[in-house]
Amino acid sequence: TYVVALPCVDVKDRACTEECPVDGIYEGPRMLYIHPDECIDCGACEVVCPVEAIHYEDDLPAELRPFAAANAEFCAEL
Ligand code: SF4
Repeated sequence: TYVVALPCVDVKDRACTEECPVDGIYEGPRMLYIHPDECIDCGACEVVCPVEAIHYEDDLPAELRPFAAANAEFCAEL
């Protein structure tokens, strides 16, 4: 799955939501989140994010790894 990380906080550009073919990106209070069960790993969101907030889960830099769980936890509550 792809993951939205720290650079999205208080930015929420939303370009990613228009690209996602499965509408798997959801808006939270301060950032967007990707639903891990809906993401089909197409990568379309990653390339359009103006602040490069989106990474493939396995490619998350170490300091951003907690965002994988944050995305999953937010989406589990939907
Ligand atoms: Fe949607 Fe593709 Fe991004 Fe997954 S990788 S959240 S399917 S645009």
